[in-house]
Amino acid sequence: MKLGKYSLGIGDRFSHEGVAQLRAIVRANQKGLEISPVWNKSNREHMYVHSHPADVRVEADAAVATLGFSGKYFVDADHINLGTVGPFVETADFFTLDVASFIGKESPESEVKAFVTSCSKYIGNLAIPGIDHTIAVSEELLEKLASQFLAAAIQAGEIYNYLKVAKGEGNFITEVSMDEVETPQTPVELFFILKMIADKGVPVQTIAPKFTGRFNKGVDYTGNVDQFAREFEEDVLVLDFAVKEFGLPEELKLSVHSGSDKFTIYPIMSGIIRKYDKGLHVKTAGTTWLEEVIGLALAGGEALVAAKFIYSSALGRKEELCAPYADVIDIDDLKLPSVEEVSAWSSEKFANTLRHIPDHPDYNPNLRQLIHVGYKVASEMGTTYTDLLKKHAELIGKCVEENIYERHLKRLF
Ligand SMILES: [Zn+2]
Repeated sequence: MKLGKYSLGIGDRFSHEGVAQLRAIVRANQKGLEISPVWNKSNREHMYVHSHPADVRVEADAAVATLGFSGKYFVDADHINLGTVGPFVETADFFTLDVASFIGKESPESEVKAFVTSCSKYIGNLAIPGIDHTIAVSEELLEKLASQFLAAAIQAGEIYNYLKVAKGEGNFITEVSMDEVETPQTPVELFFILKMIADKGVPVQTIAPKFTGRFNKGVDYTGNVDQFAREFEEDVLVLDFAVKEFGLPEELKLSVHSGSDKFTIYPIMSGIIRKYDKGLHVKTAGTTWLEEVIGLALAGGEALVAAKFIYSSALGRKEELCAPYADVIDIDDLKLPSVEEVSAWSSEKFANTLRHIPDHPDYNPNLRQLIHVGYKVASEMGTTYTDLLKKHAELIGKCVEENIYERHLKRLF
């Protein structure tokens, strides 16, 4: 099973927007692209909204049937480990093996030795084609890399072997993710991580490293853009070289998590993958939930009241809702509007404040991030919320489609 060159992860918290999301991809594909949609949902999201992995498969199949979509599509068991993968086995065909928590864990001395020995040909000045500087590789560096990353690669091998038995070889896509950590992985680290993953027999098709800078949820990239550009380009070249050196799948490409709304770096990413004719996977999720709230606001009446309720509740429970996302949001409390202020807003004012159009005078990234983490409030509203989604499906669907097509796919691919 192959993912294809371009793919977009389209997470959908409440599983009502599959058709609208797919419409955006169909529109892009009508322009001559071939983007595979991947409906991704993590175990964490399922727990927060009390959904089941099978629901994602139902949504994906239904969207594909509704639009008569004939391309490849996938269902991603996002950020799973050995403890959580079970319920995803039957209905997912894309698995994101999250081994971040094994970074820095000790691995058997014999494995470390074997790794260092197997890399002896790289000792000296390692030249990666396309990268304009060589990398000094010593035995000490290899030992250090093994002590940092080998346990994670071993874990990836264990999860992969479990899936190989459960699903059959070649019947699923394998991604390895290491993004949910504090320290970014450098291109040279990525090269040797891929060696370790290849040694464990994991046919990785996408890898999600932690990049330089902040990938905050639902808002633009913040960080050193030049450094990101350099690192991203080197990562692309590292992957190309690793495929040839380690016999990894030709399809191997980068996966960018929390990838929605990173408008500043889309032209950079797009330029680099074009320059080298490479593929890319970008994961999004919360950006679609935010469009639901925008659509509700625009619908007015009780739907606007619901949108305001979500904001005011999230404001009152800010600490609780933000806690699990501490590393991926930056909210300036002083710039959050008060409940009184928001209660007087019109549909347009609410939508313009929330919608991610950075140069719009009403746009407020603080409110946007707070609502991003506020989906728990909507989940607790139960059918009150989902009935509104059904009632205003057309308007919300337009927002969802426009966001993915105009602001994401057009800029990325
Ligand atoms: Zn991730």
